[in-house]
Amino acid sequence: MRLAILKETANGETRVALLPDAVKTLISRGLEVAVEPGCGAEAGASDEDFAGAGAQLRPNRAELLATADVIPVVNGVAPADQERLSEGTVIAGFLRPLDEPERLQNAIARGATLFAMELVPRITRAQAMDALSSMATVSGYKAVLLAAATLPRMFPLLMTAAGTVPPARVLVLGAGVAGLQAIATARRLGAVVESYDVRAAAGEQVKSLGAKFLEVDLGGIQTEDQGGYARELTEEALERGRELITKTARTSDVIITTALVPGKRAPLLICRAAVESMRGGSVIVDLAAPAGGNCELTQPGHDIIHHGVHLLAPLNLPATVPVHASQLYSRNMVNFLQLLIKKGELNLDMNDPIIRGACVARGGEAMNERVAALLPPQQARAVVCEQRRIS
Ligand code: NAD
Repeated sequence: MRLAILKETANGETRVALLPDAVKTLISRGLEVAVEPGCGAEAGASDEDFAGAGAQLRPNRAELLATADVIPVVNGVAPADQERLSEGTVIAGFLRPLDEPERLQNAIARGATLFAMELVPRITRAQAMDALSSMATVSGYKAVLLAAATLPRMFPLLMTAAGTVPPARVLVLGAGVAGLQAIATARRLGAVVESYDVRAAAGEQVKSLGAKFLEVDLGGIQTEDQGGYARELTEEALERGRELITKTARTSDVIITTALVPGKRAPLLICRAAVESMRGGSVIVDLAAPAGGNCELTQPGHDIIHHGVHLLAPLNLPATVPVHASQLYSRNMVNFLQLLIKKGELNLDMNDPIIRGACVARGGEAMNERVAALLPPQQARAVVCEQRRIS
C-alpha cells in the first residue's frame, strides 16, 4: 500500500502532514512512502531526512495523487488535485467539511474516502489523534507572543532603580484549549490575566493557571452540550457577556479572544464601544477570525488599527511555528492512520467511533449527517443507510 506526502499548496502554509519519524513508523508497518520533494523544507525536514527514513522522492505530483492509496494532508486537497484522485483513495487532514463542504465535492464525486481531523471525537482513546487541540495549543501560545511584540509596553511587573513598571493586563475570552495556553503563556511573561468563558467548568482550569475567572449570571441556562463544547447562546445571554467584556476592556492592555461554537459563526463578544474604550496602543488578537471573529471590527486575515487599538486577525498561526506545529500534527496523524491500517492494508472498521466520527465521505456519498445536510442530495444518501446499519 502506498502513502504519499505532498507539499501543501495553501497560501502561507509551511506545515507538512507527516515528518520522517512518522514515515519510519509507517514503513515498519509495511507501507511504501513517497514524498514530493521540498514538502518538509519549512518544517525542519529536508528531502534527505525523508530519504533517510526510507521514503522515495517523487517529483511528479500528478502521479503521486493518482497512485497513492493514502494521502495525509494538512489543509485538504486543492480542487485541481482532486481531479487526479482514484476511487477509494484515503485523504485525511483538516478538510473543513462544515465550513467549506463545496470544496470537497470533487473528491467525493471521485469516490475518495475522506477523513476530517477536526471531526475526530474528543474521547479519551482519541486524545493522541486530537490535532485540533495540538493546533489550538500552538495558536494560543503564538497569539500572546504577537500581542507582546505589538504592545508598546512590557508584560511583567518590573521594580527598577528608575521606577516601577506595572504589569500588563491581559483578558482571555474563551478558556478552551487555545485560551488556556494563552493564559499560561501570558502568565509566564508576567502579565495579570483575567478570563471569561460560558462554561462554568472552565473556571477551575483558569484559576489553576493563576488567572482570575470572570463570572456572568446567565440566568442558569444550559451553556454546554454533551460533548463538553459551548452551545450557541441566546442574544440576551450573549449581551450579558458583552456587558462584562466592555467593562473589563477599559482596563485591559491585551485581549486574546478564542471563543467558538462548533459549526457556527463565532459569537460576537467585543463590540465597537469596547474597542474604542481601550487605551491607544492596546492589542486585540482575534483567534476566532477563521470563523468570522469574536470582535465586531475583525477583518479576518487583516491587521487593522482602530482608534489606536491594534486588531490582529490571523487565519493560520500554527503555520508561523511550522517545526513544532508539524511535529504535533504528524504525531496525531500517524496515530490516526495506524487506526485505519492493519497489517499493511487499509481496514476501515466503520463501527469504531473514531473512524466513523471522522469519516466525511466514502464511495461517492457523505458519511456524516451534518456534512450531508450541506451537500447536494445525490452526495448525501449514504448517511441514512450507514446510520441504519449501525443502529
Ligand atoms: P472551542 O475551540 O470550540 O471553543 C473555545 C472556547 O470558547 C470554549 O472553551 C468555549 O466554551 C468558549 N466559548 C464559546 N462561546 C462562548 C461565549 N459566547 N463566550 C465565552 N466563551 C465562549 O473549544 P475547545 O478549545 O476545542 O474545547 C472545548 C471543550 O472540549 C473543552 O471543555 C475542552 O476541555 C474539551 N476538550 C476535551 C478533549 C478530550 O477530552 N480529548 C480534548 C480537547 C478539548
